[in-house]
Amino acid sequence: MIQYSLRCAQGHQYDAWFKNAAAFDEQAARGIVRCAVCDDGRVEKALMAPAVARTDQGKVALSSDQPDAQKIRELLRAYRQKVVSEADYVGDRFAEEARKIHFEEVDAHHIYGEATRDEAIALADEGIAFLPLPDLPEDRN
Ligand SMILES: [Zn+2]
Repeated sequence: MIQYSLRCAQGHQYDAWFKNAAAFDEQAARGIVRCAVCDDGRVEKALMAPAVARTDQGKVALSSDQPDAQKIRELLRAYRQKVVSEADYVGDRFAEEARKIHFEEVDAHHIYGEATRDEAIALADEGIAFLPLPDLPEDRN
């Protein structure tokens, strides 16, 4: 079984399982892969590589296949698990909490959560240190 992140022509994105890569290609060619949300038949595979980082202009950073990719993914997964098990989840209050910690309004502790791109830029401008948390496809299951 192989899991693909799919996106339809209307922009809906969802995950679906196929027996193998050929099964997806065959079903897509026959037009029977339909959007789970709106039933649109124009569905294609969405990029879901862990290292796909969005940059300006909606472009994505990509590389060709790398022999150590699997090993590095394992390291990233271990890194993510360490962060998640040791830090406090603050949801979308990440920027706010990071600022409180930076300005010592609260005791220092490790946190993780989400921030918008603008919030992340503001934090960087203020000299507040943070790191991107790798988002691995397996984590979304
Ligand atoms: Zn759709």
